[in-house]
Amino acid sequence: MQTTSSTAPLQTDYLVKGCGATAMAFVDVMLKETNANFIMVDKRAAPGGHWNDAYPFVRLHQPSACYGVASRALGNGRTDSTGFNQGLLELASGVEVTDYFHQLMRDTFLASGRVSFHPMSDLVGEPGSGSYAIRSMLSGAMQTVNVRKRLVDATMVHTSIPLTHKRKFTVADGVTCEPPNHLTRLAPHYKRFTVLGAGKTAIDSVSWLLSNGAPPERITWVLPRDPWLINRTFFQPGLEHFEQTIGGTARLFEVFATASSVKEVCLKMEAAGTWMRLDSNVWPTMFHGATVTQLELEKLREIKNIVRLGRLQHIDTHRMQLERGERPCDPETLYVDCTASALQHALPIEAAQPVFEDGLVHLHMIRTYQPTFSAALIAHIEATMTDEATKRQLCQPTHMTDTTEDYLRVMAISMRNQAAWNTLPELRSWIRACRLDGLGSTLAQVAKDDAPRREVLARLSAATAPALANLERLTAHTERETAIH
Ligand SMILES: Cc1cc2nc3c(=O)[nH]c(=O)nc-3n(C[C@H](O)[C@H](O)[C@H](O)COP(=O)(O)OP(=O)(O)OC[C@H]3O[C@@H](n4cnc5c(N)ncnc54)[C@H](O)[C@@H]3O)c2cc1C
Repeated sequence: MQTTSSTAPLQTDYLVKGCGATAMAFVDVMLKETNANFIMVDKRAAPGGHWNDAYPFVRLHQPSACYGVASRALGNGRTDSTGFNQGLLELASGVEVTDYFHQLMRDTFLASGRVSFHPMSDLVGEPGSGSYAIRSMLSGAMQTVNVRKRLVDATMVHTSIPLTHKRKFTVADGVTCEPPNHLTRLAPHYKRFTVLGAGKTAIDSVSWLLSNGAPPERITWVLPRDPWLINRTFFQPGLEHFEQTIGGTARLFEVFATASSVKEVCLKMEAAGTWMRLDSNVWPTMFHGATVTQLELEKLREIKNIVRLGRLQHIDTHRMQLERGERPCDPETLYVDCTASALQHALPIEAAQPVFEDGLVHLHMIRTYQPTFSAALIAHIEATMTDEATKRQLCQPTHMTDTTEDYLRVMAISMRNQAAWNTLPELRSWIRACRLDGLGSTLAQVAKDDAPRREVLARLSAATAPALANLERLTAHTERETAIH
């Protein structure tokens, strides 16, 4: 269905494709630091992107304190006293995150008179073509848009979630395989549960089942690959967590600086308690940056029925067919599909478009695993700098990681970006004052005469250049190995 609008073209400074967290973080800073206006377009019915379709027990896996947009706090800065996250800063639930974005749109963006939001609409037109239109997904009506400054592509993270992704395995009639969105409703009607996938969503589903009384022996976990998990204790903003977070980062950089292989990096990070694995006898080959606590890991280890036969291909009422073999199954099993890739990038990083191009902004992550901080900083750079080459140089894209080697590669890019930001006093101060930058705001709180903490900062600083040099050696070595095999 497609009809052409006869109304005059819409005019805007910035046309924003997508209205998820990164789009919101970008527009939030631009509203404050420029006089520009914005048209935001999303296929979904409300702002907040994939969070609108998240499963009911989802939570952020980083503290709320440094997620969202720069101008508005998320949560109350509470420290959790119960559950797996006890002793650590609160993690917003999916409902809290969506409510936060809905309120922000209504009370700040629309109220400013400088933002218009087009839900249930597809933005059409090749990015960079300069010719764009908004197509209503209900009526098919097309509205042309003239863009004075730039198109902002806020779909670069390519989120893929269980509710909306296309499964890569088949399911026979009579088998119930559902995304975790339906788990809370269906669980009481099933005797056994099989959770499919190795990422954060699968971990959340297993944790949810266990903490709601499902006996571990009735849960099977299909793990195509074992993941390295990051201990969340080491990623907490605030001076009270300085030793773990900043001390932990100093240790990470020291390991980067001295390790002679990727394996040595992993073993040293594991020995430090920062990286963890489900089973000390199984070497993880996946690194998606999921965070858990020690308490949660101990609970997950109660699951003994773990199927490590590669990716799932087919589920029948009595068996599962996997890449490397079969497994018999109880017909009264609920299968929980957590196999969506969560975050992906369509292109290898070498082929990624630059953040700034003529008439375009691509909202890539420019710091590892920090999409909203990255979008906010890109906005600040757009608002305050004019030289395009400098802007591009300050914003080298990182990407989502699949393996430890990927992680080391994006950490090197992220560290080079940080080093470039640190050379510009205004940028450095902006970052340190930004609520989305957990580390910088903690560094800014260290008193001049706080000798023990200053010593940790000195270690961090001393390890940075050697870490970068060694990361290049380590990742060049693994690239050669990949090319040979
Ligand atoms: C379960 C889960 C937990 C997570 N937890 C964290 C966390 O703790 N911390 C963290 O930093 N990150 C976390 N993430 C990563 C998370 O994806 C990002 O934080 C962020 O929400 C990504 O936002 P986005 O705007 O880039 O993408 P999306 O949320 O995917 O938004 C993009 C939007 O673009 C729209 N769109 C696409 N094409 C078009 C088009 N042609 N026209 C109009 N609209 C279009 C889509 O409809 C979508 O709504 C988590 C992700 C998942 C899945």
